[in-house]
Amino acid sequence: MSNPTILTVDDDPLVSAAITRDLGNQYGADYRIIRASSGREALDVLTRLAVRDEPVALIAADQRMPEMTGIEMLQEARHQAPGAKLLLLTAYADTDVAISAINDIGLDYYLLKPWDPPEQRLYPIIDELLDDWRKAHPDHTSDVRVIGHRWSDRSHEVKMFLIRNHVPYRWYDVERDAEGERLRGLAQVAPEDLPLVLVPDGEALRSPSTLSLAAALGLHTTAQQPLYDLCIVGGGPAGLAAAVYGASEGLSTVIVEREAPGGQAGMSAAIENYLGFPRGLSGSDLAHRAIAQVSRFGAEMVLARDVVGFQTRGPVRAAVFADGGEIESRALVVATGMSYRRLEASGLEELTGRGIYYGTAVGEANQCEGDVVYIVGAANSAGQAAIELSRFAKQVVLVVRANTLTETMSSYLISRIITAPNIAVRYHSKVVAVHGEGHLEALTLADAETGASEDVSSSWLFIFIGATPRTDWLGSDIARDDRGFIVTGQDLLSIGSTRSWSLPRPPQALETSVPGVFAAGDVRLNSMKRVASAVGEGAMSVYLVHRYLATI
Ligand SMILES: Cc1cc2nc3c(=O)[nH]c(=O)nc-3n(C[C@H](O)[C@H](O)[C@H](O)COP(=O)(O)OP(=O)(O)OC[C@H]3O[C@@H](n4cnc5c(N)ncnc54)[C@H](O)[C@@H]3O)c2cc1C
Repeated sequence: MSNPTILTVDDDPLVSAAITRDLGNQYGADYRIIRASSGREALDVLTRLAVRDEPVALIAADQRMPEMTGIEMLQEARHQAPGAKLLLLTAYADTDVAISAINDIGLDYYLLKPWDPPEQRLYPIIDELLDDWRKAHPDHTSDVRVIGHRWSDRSHEVKMFLIRNHVPYRWYDVERDAEGERLRGLAQVAPEDLPLVLVPDGEALRSPSTLSLAAALGLHTTAQQPLYDLCIVGGGPAGLAAAVYGASEGLSTVIVEREAPGGQAGMSAAIENYLGFPRGLSGSDLAHRAIAQVSRFGAEMVLARDVVGFQTRGPVRAAVFADGGEIESRALVVATGMSYRRLEASGLEELTGRGIYYGTAVGEANQCEGDVVYIVGAANSAGQAAIELSRFAKQVVLVVRANTLTETMSSYLISRIITAPNIAVRYHSKVVAVHGEGHLEALTLADAETGASEDVSSSWLFIFIGATPRTDWLGSDIARDDRGFIVTGQDLLSIGSTRSWSLPRPPQALETSVPGVFAAGDVRLNSMKRVASAVGEGAMSVYLVHRYLATI
């Protein structure tokens, strides 16, 4: 296949030559750079490429062109090159028009001319756009292959792990894909040993544990040093931010994550309120960017390891793993966030992972293509899932206990749900039972007002009913409230009585009842439960760690 194309469009010969030269210098080895001098010529080029099925990664068009403006051209280009990233070159006077184009035509970025020096003002932007494009258009030749049963909970776990760790994979359902059955036969794997995972240049893995899958993929699952300045438990936004700030400010830093970096935010289809991203960004994109930043600054990331215990040994703090082993550090940040609360309904435990899921991964939404999908929940997470799943499902039904969504969901999501033709909301309702042989086949819904119940057919139920912190592993030394949220700072003095704080100095803002152990993000009592606040607290915890380390 030929290299993907970057198309530049400008009627001004000097600007056209400059953008084509700068892009060619940096990206010419991997992309074909084509230059057009008008909107019409660019559309002709795109039509030719579309006919030959040649991919277009990026179109960079100047706004001010005679006959056809850059925005008009980019809007038309959506037909010939639907997935291409769209960049508008503008003068300062066109800024308002460019901002409107973000909503109107899905413009990806606008760049003010001139862009010198390109190393600072052009390449970082293009790098991100091309990176996003490549993620959406992966080269499948090096994919991991997963062969399993559609309704197997282990297959689901493996796929979730790959999606959330940004590992491209191809899925083969043994019952539906002849190729899947062929691969299973070749690897001589019995049906009960599925899922089979084929890693390029690696051994065939039979129903691998998360840890062995991570190791086979080359992810780090053990720490390299005997002692760190800072150990962070939890790789959500708070933990990732702490790792970036810790490592960039000279602390030897390790971060431990049991599932996948990104945390709850990684499950979000569109975070629209995070500063600096006017088009919003997906949680997976945010996580991907954060992971790159963490490794760029040299923090170590230990994946697929569950921290199940905590110990204080003089000035050393130890995080202990489920499967043995531990990490010692001089300071610890707990950023373990929250996990989904369990739904109480008859038959639910048995079918969880077999059509019933807590949360959902954006990349798996297409599994529900053409089906009827039920979602339980009334908060933003349920609303985002409904919108994402409605892109594939025939019908999405949101099951809500209350009579309204207005008290629990943001208005921008409510208006999208109400206007979506294939999303219905069932108010004052709850799921009381689930049924199915081997996988979900039907649900019983009860009406809280009339008491009437109804059985409905569906193979999919996604549950978003809030979350609780899982902090039992911290033992009794770290003060928590009765729901498990970690008490920090001044709250230790007011809530926890004298037992909670032992030193003559007052606790620092995010410090827990054990000096040198800090809590950041959703796991902390009275935290705001938002991405931005989690990131802010993660960053701030590092400043407090520095102050603490100066005292010991
Ligand atoms: C679907 C969804 C959509 C959302 N949308 C938005 C939005 O649009 N805007 C917004 O501002 N907020 C949104 N939120 C809320 C936001 O995602 C959270 O506030 C934020 O992720 C909290 O970050 P955190 O780092 O504190 O915790 P988390 O994101 O919960 O991350 C904690 C991490 O710690 C790991 N962990 C837990 N225990 C252990 C252990 N013992 N050992 C090792 N690792 C452990 C977990 O696996 C997890 O990765 C959304 C949440 C959800 C679920």
